Amino acid sequence: MKNLLRIALVIFCLVPVFVSAQKINSVQLLADLEYLASDQLEGRSPLSKGSLLAREYIRERFQSLGMTSQYPDFTQHFSFKGRRDGQITGNAANIIGFIPGQFTEKLIVITAHYDHLGKIGEKIFNGADDNASGTAAVLAFAAYFMENKPYHSMMFIALDGEESGHQGAKALIADFPFDLERIVLNINMDMISRNDDNEIYAVGTYHFPFLKPMIEKVSEGRQPQLLFGHDEPDSGFQDWTMASDHSQFFLNNIPFIYFGVENHMDYHKETDTFERIHPDFFVATVELILDIIISLDSQLVSAD
Ligand SMILES: [Zn+2]
Repeated sequence: MKNLLRIALVIFCLVPVFVSAQKINSVQLLADLEYLASDQLEGRSPLSKGSLLAREYIRERFQSLGMTSQYPDFTQHFSFKGRRDGQITGNAANIIGFIPGQFTEKLIVITAHYDHLGKIGEKIFNGADDNASGTAAVLAFAAYFMENKPYHSMMFIALDGEESGHQGAKALIADFPFDLERIVLNINMDMISRNDDNEIYAVGTYHFPFLKPMIEKVSEGRQPQLLFGHDEPDSGFQDWTMASDHSQFFLNNIPFIYFGVENHMDYHKETDTFERIHPDFFVATVELILDIIISLDSQLVSAD
C-alpha cells in the first residue's frame, strides 16, 4: 500500500512536468494536419472546393483565437494565374492573422503554404507533408503567441499558390500593409513532418549569417537534428534559396529562415498522406522551431 502511494505520488508529480515541457497542443497539431490532408479537401488546389474549405478552417481558427488582421475577414485575395497558360482564373487567397508586439512594431512574419497539387484525374494529391504540415505549425504557433505575447509584432500567414510559382507570397509582398523595412525576419516552413534520418534543415544562414549562432544555441543537443545548408550556390548541394515562399522575402533583402526536410519518396505523389508522416518527428520539429522563434523574438529586439 505504501509503495502504491509512493508510485501514485511520483506519477502525480511527474505528469505536470511532462505536460508543461510541451508548449504546443500536439493532439490539435496532428488533427489539423489530418484534416487539411484529408480526401475531403481534395489536395487544396487554388480556387477548388477543397481550397475554400481549407481557407475557412484556417480563418475560423485565427478568429476563435482572438487574433486581428490588417485584411478584412483575415483574407488577402489575389488574382490567380493558371500554371500552364498564365491566364487569370479567379481569386486565390492568403489567410493572415496578426498579433501586436509588446516592445516593438517591427515584424516577424511566419509563413507556410496551404495549397497543393489538388486532383489529377481521379487521383487526390493530399499534400500531407507538402504542406499541411507547415500550415498546422502556423496554427500551433499562433495559439502559443496569443497566450504568450511576443516582443515583436507577428503575422501568421497561410499562403496560397506556392505550387504555381509562389504566387501568394508575391501577392503578399506586392500589397503588404506595412513598410517592408519593418520586417526583421521571415520564418517559412514547407515539409516538416517526416524524415527517416531524424533531420531537418534550417536554410538561409549562408545569406544571413548573424542568425546562425542564435539558432545553434537552441538546437544544440536537440532531436531532431537541425542541419544548416542548402543555401549556398555551387556548393554541390541543391540550393533551396528560391525553393519556396521565402524566396520573395530573400529577393527583398529580408532575412529568412526556411525549415524543411530532404525530399522523400512520396514528394509530389498521391502517397504524400497523413498515414505516412512521422508524428513524433513532426511534434518534436514543431517544438524545436517554436523554441527557435521564441529565442529569435527576444534576441532580435536588442538588434532592432
Ligand atoms: Zn511545398
